[in-house]
Amino acid sequence: MNHDELNHWSKRAADWARDYHKSLREQPVRPQLTPGDVAAKLPAQAPEQAEPMERIFADFESIVPGATTHWQHPRFFAYFPANASPASMLAEQLANAIAGQAMLWQTAPAANEIEAVMINWLRDAMGLPDSFTGTIHDSATTATLSAILTMRERALDWQGNTAGLSALPRLRLYASGETHSSIDKGARIAGIGQDNLVKIPTTDNFAMDTDALDAAIHADLDAGFLPAGVIACTGGTSIGACDDIRATIAVAKAHNLYTHVDAAWAGSAMICPEFRPLWDGVEGADSVVFNPHKWLGAQFDCAVQFLRDPAPQINTLGLRPEYLNTLGQDEITNYNEWTVPLGRRFRALKLWFTLRAYGLEGLRSRIRNHINWSQECLEIIGKLTGFEITSPRSFSLFTFRFKNSDTETEALLSRINDDGRIYLTQTRHKGQFVIRVQVGQFDCTREDVMMIPTVLKDLT
Ligand code: PLP
Repeated sequence: MNHDELNHWSKRAADWARDYHKSLREQPVRPQLTPGDVAAKLPAQAPEQAEPMERIFADFESIVPGATTHWQHPRFFAYFPANASPASMLAEQLANAIAGQAMLWQTAPAANEIEAVMINWLRDAMGLPDSFTGTIHDSATTATLSAILTMRERALDWQGNTAGLSALPRLRLYASGETHSSIDKGARIAGIGQDNLVKIPTTDNFAMDTDALDAAIHADLDAGFLPAGVIACTGGTSIGACDDIRATIAVAKAHNLYTHVDAAWAGSAMICPEFRPLWDGVEGADSVVFNPHKWLGAQFDCAVQFLRDPAPQINTLGLRPEYLNTLGQDEITNYNEWTVPLGRRFRALKLWFTLRAYGLEGLRSRIRNHINWSQECLEIIGKLTGFEITSPRSFSLFTFRFKNSDTETEALLSRINDDGRIYLTQTRHKGQFVIRVQVGQFDCTREDVMMIPTVLKDLT
C-alpha cells in the first residue's frame, strides 16, 4: 500500500467508523464468544505474498466487530470507561499520520510544547496550584510506577539505582486496601516487594485511617524499616473510596515521606469545582495521576501525572547517554527523562482537540449528568424487590447485590451480560460479591442509564 491507496482506504475506514458508532446501540455490549473463536478464523502462518486490501478489509469487517467488546457503546457501565470523544479520535488519526516519536524536544517540538501547555490547561481546569507541572504517560500504572521508583530513590538518597537494593535497608510503602492493584504492581516492579506495601485499615467511610497510618510508620521505624512513601486514592476502583488527602499528606509529611495521589478515574470530575472537596488538600501532594482516557474523553491511552517538583522523578528516571544528548539544548524539557519508556507517542494532540471541541463547560455538563443519572438509577434499584445498595454513590459509581447472596448476585450478573443490552462487572466489598455500576460513557443519555433498572426488572 502506498500513500495514495492509504488515502482511499482511510476514507473507507472513516465511513466504516461512522456506521460502527451509529449502530452500537443495536449491538450487544459484550460479544457472546468462547476463547479461541477468533484465532480459529486466522491462518496459522503469515502470508508469503502481498494480499489485496479489499480482502484484508473484508476480513476485518467479518471477524473483528462481532468479536469486540464495545467500549464506546453508550450502555457500557462496566469497569471504568475508556472514553474516546470523536474529536480525540480525529486527533489520533492525525498523530498517526505524522507517526513521530516525541522522546526529545528536538524529535517532536510541537508534541512536546503542546504537552506542556495541555498540562497547564488541565492543572488550571482542575484547580491545582500554578507550581504544578507534569507529563503524559501511557497509563496510570506507569505514572504510579514512576512515583514509586521516585519514592524508593529519594528514600535511598539515589543509591538504589546504582548500587541495587540488596545491601540497603528494606523499604516500606503505605496505602489502603481500597487502592488499585497498580500500586501492588509498582511495589513489585520497583523491587520493594508487595509484602512491603503496608495496607492500612480504613475508617467507616472507606478512607485510610490516618491514625493507623501514623502508627504503622512508627512501628516500621522501630523495626528498622525505611518508610519511603504514601499512596492515597481519590475514587478507588472497587467502590470509589476517597482518602482524606489533607490528613494523609499531613502524616506523610511529618515523616518526610513522598506522596502520590491516584485519581485515575475520578480526577476528571475535578474540572467541576463542586467535587474538589473530595480531594481537599491535594495541593500538598508530590505527585497526582489521572486518566483523561477514562472519563474526560481523550482516547486511550492518556494518563496525566502532575508533579509539584519534577526534579526527584527526573533524578530517578532520567538518563542521558551521548546518543540522546541534545547539543546546546540541554535546558529544554525532554519528557523521556520524566517517564519509564524512552519512546513517547504524541498524546497531547487528543487533549488539545478534546478540550477545544467540547470546551470545559461541555465536558463538565457531561460529568454532572453522569453523576445525576447514576444517583437516579441507584434510587430506582434500591426500591426493586430483592435488591440492596451495598456502597453509596461515589461520583458516578455505586454497587448493589441481589437476594443478599453471592450465588444469586453472580448468576444475575451472568444473565445481565448474556442479555447484552448493558454491560456490568463485579467487585468484592466487605467480603461480599457485589455488582458495580459506573455511569460515564461519553455518548450515553439518561435513557441509556435507565436501561439498567429495566434490564434488572426483566431478568428477575
Ligand atoms: N488507578 C485506578 C483508581 C484505576 O481505576 C485504574 C484502572 O481502572 C488504574 C489505576 C490503572 O489504570 P491504567 O489502566 O491507566 O494503568
